[in-house]
Amino acid sequence: MAIYDNFGVRTIINVSGASTRVGGALMPEEVVDSMREAARESVSMAELQAAASRYISNVTGAEAGYVTSGASAGLTLATASIIAGCDLSKIDKLPQTQGFKNEFIISREHRNGYDHAARLAGATLVEVGMNEIVANAGVRRTEPWEYEVAITDSTVGIYYSQGPDSHPCLTDVVKVAQKFKLPVIVDAAGELPPKANLRRFIEMGADLVAFSGGKALLGPQSTGILCGKKHLITSVALQNLDMDEFFDIWDPPNDLIPKDTLPGIPRHGIGRGFKVSKENVVGLLTALRLFVEDNYESNYIDQTNYLKSIVSAISSKALETRIFAPEEGSPILTIRVNEEVLQKSAFEISRQLKNGNPGVFVQEVGLGEGIITIHPMNLNEDRTRILTKKLLSII
Ligand SMILES: *Cc1c(COP(=O)(O)O)cnc(C)c1O
Repeated sequence: MAIYDNFGVRTIINVSGASTRVGGALMPEEVVDSMREAARESVSMAELQAAASRYISNVTGAEAGYVTSGASAGLTLATASIIAGCDLSKIDKLPQTQGFKNEFIISREHRNGYDHAARLAGATLVEVGMNEIVANAGVRRTEPWEYEVAITDSTVGIYYSQGPDSHPCLTDVVKVAQKFKLPVIVDAAGELPPKANLRRFIEMGADLVAFSGGKALLGPQSTGILCGKKHLITSVALQNLDMDEFFDIWDPPNDLIPKDTLPGIPRHGIGRGFKVSKENVVGLLTALRLFVEDNYESNYIDQTNYLKSIVSAISSKALETRIFAPEEGSPILTIRVNEEVLQKSAFEISRQLKNGNPGVFVQEVGLGEGIITIHPMNLNEDRTRILTKKLLSII
């Protein structure tokens, strides 16, 4: 594509999925058009975020919502909102938390690289539980009582990573949290689709839920959604929006920021570096609407056909192919490489696919077990043909 050529960068075929390192999901035309249009007029960012809040509230069932610069930024803002609330003194001090509560309880098996987002806001993560099944040292995983007995005067909330196999289930963790009036943050970055998940974790009692906008929602790569309790979203807005303004003439939408509850206007908060452009807010809202109104269903059918055409072109004794199709969402193709027949490992094939122009970037998960995984979300007919040809030439 000319625009990347201009800067001397090759384009790649991303069959890794919505991974950030390969540019994430490609946006539908309608999303790109909405961003182009948004770029041509100015708006008050507080008014735009208040409108976003109403729409997100509508489709998630949460009291309020906010467009963030990714799920990770959403998790930092969520943490900051729980630690500081609308206390302007605390908002000013973050990420320093001396003298106030900053501990979040997290199951040891929920720890992952993205929880840096919570630590960034000044949280201390207090680990509980074990996964003795994975360790081959027992039969139990983290249990709800382990959260309960770890709660102290310094505990300010619970941090929960949602996945297909999350344990203990969110409902049980929320039960403990509610008993102690503690809020629960849920990292649900990659949990869409299914569409029902937009409402599910809020219905289960989560206080704040973070989703990625740049994964299967097909919104701008650097966007996300944070939804949940109204007073926490108010704190998020206070810590994210540009605050260089005089209190007297500051006029934020009352449903996002109730000005009359504040003694003054805070200075830029910890979230100021996570600014979201008006184009990104509009792009995310457009993508969310397309997703909610089932416009992506036909993509999944096309994607299945692309995978089937790859399978019919490459099938041989050396490669065992399987297509996994979830009820909602993209199908996945796995190719098990018979290294003895082929004299090449999945790693070597993956490396060769990456080279050249265009490079083909497959999913890394499974390579260690000799499995190449193809995620078709960014495929079209041309790319499928090029990918198939390249794969055939390597094997
Ligand atoms: C992708 C992901 C994130 C980060 O989401 P961004 O929108 O890229 O910031 C956080 N947590 C999990 C579990 C993820 O999969």
